Amino acid sequence: MRKDVELKMINGTTQLAGILGWPAAHSRSPLIHNYWIRKHGVDAAYVPLPVAPADFAGAVRSLPKLGFAGANVTVPHKQAAFLLADTRDALSERLGVVNTLVFAKDGSIEGRNTDVYGFLENLRVGAPGIDFAAGDAIVLGAGGAARAVVAGLLEAGSKKVRLLNRTESRAVAIAKDFADSRIVVGNWDRRETALGGAGLLINATSLGMEGAAPLELSLDALPKTAVVHDLVYAPLETGLLRAAREKGCASVDGLGMLLHQAVPAFNAWFGVYPDVTEDLRSMAIDDLARIP
Ligand code: NAP
Repeated sequence: MRKDVELKMINGTTQLAGILGWPAAHSRSPLIHNYWIRKHGVDAAYVPLPVAPADFAGAVRSLPKLGFAGANVTVPHKQAAFLLADTRDALSERLGVVNTLVFAKDGSIEGRNTDVYGFLENLRVGAPGIDFAAGDAIVLGAGGAARAVVAGLLEAGSKKVRLLNRTESRAVAIAKDFADSRIVVGNWDRRETALGGAGLLINATSLGMEGAAPLELSLDALPKTAVVHDLVYAPLETGLLRAAREKGCASVDGLGMLLHQAVPAFNAWFGVYPDVTEDLRSMAIDDLARIP
């Protein structure tokens, strides 16, 4: 136990929050939130909540009655949470998925999305002074994470977002849903050519993850001024980030997004704005080294 993060006793007034997933045991959210609970002396506890899809609605409806302040939502429940929420913030409306639930005293459920915040904050901290309008933003992937990335880039002022995905129809679907002329769908097989005018390159595929195939991508055409960001955080330095570093590009790993997306949720439940500190980051890195 670190010196500055003392364990508080759980008692009759302890507030609860947790992570709803199926499975939930792999989630790093308990580590992150319990770190902040201890650090800020909040009378709360954060627990894994493994819930099968068939039980999701009933389980979530019972949580406010059990004294929960809220919950995070991960695979495969993000869309179900969106449908279940009584009210939703503008971002989750736009994305069609919810990753944070906030319970009101009357038991009503608000759905929020903090992935976009986590993505942008990680880039702003990891690449200080980043100018989202400088050059094209190249996004590889068109899954759930890519949707949050695209929403963030549009919000942050990117002038052109080039979206490339192995299954092109999924990229086309994102462009259609966002209905923003700044999104241009490109061809996955010509991804290296797309790098020429890039100011920002983002891997939002699962390629490069522990146990997944590597991302095959030469960075020869990428300007040295470009920022390279990989959403994958296990391993922390992916092949893409290593290549970016060797080329002299600024690079930002995916762990920061995971840590930053937790900040607004913690604040919504417990009224404290926690910091993403080096201590928390190193604790998460130690944990990832134990169980990737
Ligand atoms: P997802 O919805 O399953 O999407 C997976 C994406 O990877 C799709 O675009 C898919 O392309 C692509 N892909 C998978 N295998 C491929 C292959 N062999 N060749 C080319 N493309 C391939 O997953 P997701 O939720 O978007 O997550 C994507 C990645 O982001 C994961 O590694 C996840 O861990 C990471 N992530 C990180 C954070 C964070 O906080 N750092 C948050 C969310 C996600 P197709 O459409 O062609 O299948």
